[in-house]
Amino acid sequence: MSQIVKMPKNTQPVYDLIGLGIGPFNLSVAALAQSSSRIRTAFFDSKSEFSWHQGLMFSRSVLQTSFLKDLVTAVQPTSAYSFMAFLVEKKRFYDFLAGRFTGVTRVEFNEYLAWAAGKMNNLHWNHTAQEISVKDNRLSVAFEDGRVEHTHNLVIGTGMKPFIPQWATAYLGENCFHASSYLNKARQIKNKRIAVIGGGQTGAEIVLDLLTSKQAAPLEVQWISNLPRFSPLEEGGFVDQVFTPAYVQSYQTLPKQSQRQEVVNQKLASDGLTPSTVDELYAEIYRRKHLCADPCTITLLPGRDVKAMEQQGTGYRLTSNSTISGQTETQQADLVILATGAKPALPEFMTPLLPRLSLDENGLPELDASYRLQWDGPRNLQIFGLNLGLSSHGIVDPQMSLMTWRSATILNAVVGEPLFDLEEDNELIDWPSVPRAEILNQVIPA
Ligand SMILES: Cc1cc2nc3c(=O)[nH]c(=O)nc-3n(C[C@H](O)[C@H](O)[C@H](O)COP(=O)(O)OP(=O)(O)OC[C@H]3O[C@@H](n4cnc5c(N)ncnc54)[C@H](O)[C@@H]3O)c2cc1C
Repeated sequence: MSQIVKMPKNTQPVYDLIGLGIGPFNLSVAALAQSSSRIRTAFFDSKSEFSWHQGLMFSRSVLQTSFLKDLVTAVQPTSAYSFMAFLVEKKRFYDFLAGRFTGVTRVEFNEYLAWAAGKMNNLHWNHTAQEISVKDNRLSVAFEDGRVEHTHNLVIGTGMKPFIPQWATAYLGENCFHASSYLNKARQIKNKRIAVIGGGQTGAEIVLDLLTSKQAAPLEVQWISNLPRFSPLEEGGFVDQVFTPAYVQSYQTLPKQSQRQEVVNQKLASDGLTPSTVDELYAEIYRRKHLCADPCTITLLPGRDVKAMEQQGTGYRLTSNSTISGQTETQQADLVILATGAKPALPEFMTPLLPRLSLDENGLPELDASYRLQWDGPRNLQIFGLNLGLSSHGIVDPQMSLMTWRSATILNAVVGEPLFDLEEDNELIDWPSVPRAEILNQVIPA
């Protein structure tokens, strides 16, 4: 006798966790999640496959963090997704160690990340998230292609937004663009006057690339920075202690005002120039100034804050103020490259939920210690933010240094118990912290 099997009305799975955006940060969450059969996860990205900042993938650029701070090692050193596992599988282990490299190149780290992504079965490509909604005690994600997925927890990993200064917005195009697309642009640099705006690592890498380009040389490269000098990263054991869970935990006890100051104080621990880039660039500039008659001149302009840009013939006129003397100066350029960094931003797909989120003065979501966005939704529906916690978690947030610890923190919060052991009770530095009762009694100046 044939039996009629009644299918449940809604056969679509409700995931425990959906991740939107698959950069290194969500890839780390995905990798750790794969080690537990208790969490059903799916991660989605607009791209057709994994890639990491392709527009800035210079062949000799070196990772600013240790390769041991990979997707998994800090909390799960036995994982199949570690950088060591990658080296062993690729039969590179001995050659890599023999190199005694001070850092791994970004090209190789990107290869590692793509290798790890290729092994996971919870990643979905070619899916652009369009809108989040809340219904029937679950979060629903609508994608551009019409697909809709449901989940109880969501982790936003869509990265930062390139920062375009107001004065440049009207001129964006072939001859004025953000550094993030530098290598994707068909750059005609021969005999051009090129202004690179921004004195950080990206600006330095682009200046070095322009000066050593195999293409015919530019006429002039002007490197303009609003910082008082071109400063290398602060490095060393004591500096690196800032990139520890212990530091983050003490940072979280500080009043808002002190947290803001702390982010400024620690800036060069995270945002300076890589020493190997500084050495290479300095040697190249010295060579051009003193040892050869190459046509390209390099003009170094620290302490200049560009305030305006206007068209002048086929090129541009930039107006800057000296941050030291206050004097106004002008610079001429045919090509303007904006190495002006990126800002944390909530993705468009969160717009329907904006009125329900607790936002700070910059319009960014307030995060709790477990990276949960504060909102008025049901307590069992949790939304986590990656790269959105500069103010809540400090200078380490946009970096990979603690990404694995953060991924494990989030997965523990999803499961509701310590799936990963994150207890730390062996601190090397006793960071200043404020007991909670004192914060509550404090009057914080506006
Ligand atoms: C050039 C460069 C070098 C860096 N080097 C270092 C370093 O050496 N050490 C270090 O610690 N940090 C470094 N950083 C900082 C940080 O580690 C990286 O920016 C890192 O890529 C951040 O990862 P992410 O996952 O937040 O975002 P991203 O890598 O930006 O990834 C975001 C992903 O989200 C996807 N996405 C966006 N919107 C949607 C949507 N609506 N739907 C689906 N998918 C979407 C994008 O396609 C993208 O794949 C570097 C940053 C840059 C720019």
